[in-house]
Amino acid sequence: MILHDQHVHSNYSDDSSELLENHYQKATNAGCKYFITTEHIDFNPSMSDHDWLCDFDKLIKHLNKLKKEDTPIPLLGVEMGYRKDYLEEINQILNSYDFDLINLSVHDSGKYEYYFVDNVKALGIEQTTKLYYNQVLEAIMTIPKFNVLSHLDYYFKTVYKIDKTARFLDDIDLIKPILNEIIKKGKALEINVKVQNALPESHLRDFLKLYKDLGGTKLTLSTDAHSSNRYLEHFDKYVRIIKESGFNYLCYYIKQKEYHYDI
Ligand SMILES: [Zn+2]
Ligand SMILES: [Zn+2]
Repeated sequence: MILHDQHVHSNYSDDSSELLENHYQKATNAGCKYFITTEHIDFNPSMSDHDWLCDFDKLIKHLNKLKKEDTPIPLLGVEMGYRKDYLEEINQILNSYDFDLINLSVHDSGKYEYYFVDNVKALGIEQTTKLYYNQVLEAIMTIPKFNVLSHLDYYFKTVYKIDKTARFLDDIDLIKPILNEIIKKGKALEINVKVQNALPESHLRDFLKLYKDLGGTKLTLSTDAHSSNRYLEHFDKYVRIIKESGFNYLCYYIKQKEYHYDI
């Protein structure tokens, strides 16, 4: 079966201008059985002056309109950005729609968007590192409803921009408790192509080895494409690395039930 991308943004997200139909066409051309986008929900992001929300009702109607007899089955996803000061709003959205897949993310502390080098420099790497990983751990302990932890190495990508000698596993003491919880809760860990493209291949191999050594088996693979030319980008390469690291399937979700693609 052809894998479908597990983390995609269209212009239903605040930071993408890609048409939904362009992503859908790419999935159709690739021969995918399913299609999903995971549009952003980020409350009061520090880089913006408004909440990043998504009109899911409109999206559902749009997806249903795109579906033809022999085209991919549309699924409903979301990338939920965790913020402890917006718990009620987060849970309200997660409970209001019949999501197939919920990707849980940490992008922003409320004061700092972890993507930006200047923010990390301002607070200092050591402080920001603790802040980020503690927020991720809090996210998975606090949000009851999610399937996948997205891009745990999102923040490390920023650190690596500042310090090319930094290694992901330098912070193993903060990372291990997160992976242990993911495994205990039966959730999946996302391998995010966009993040991997910014890091050396050894990073992913180290990350996968640690996860496997701790007993992790569940992974999703996604591009985090904000434009359709990145849909399924480099999947061959990353499926190979994942296989070589000892994993033999990738997860996807329908009505939040886990299914597998053998690789
Ligand atoms: Zn994200
Ligand atoms: Zn994303």
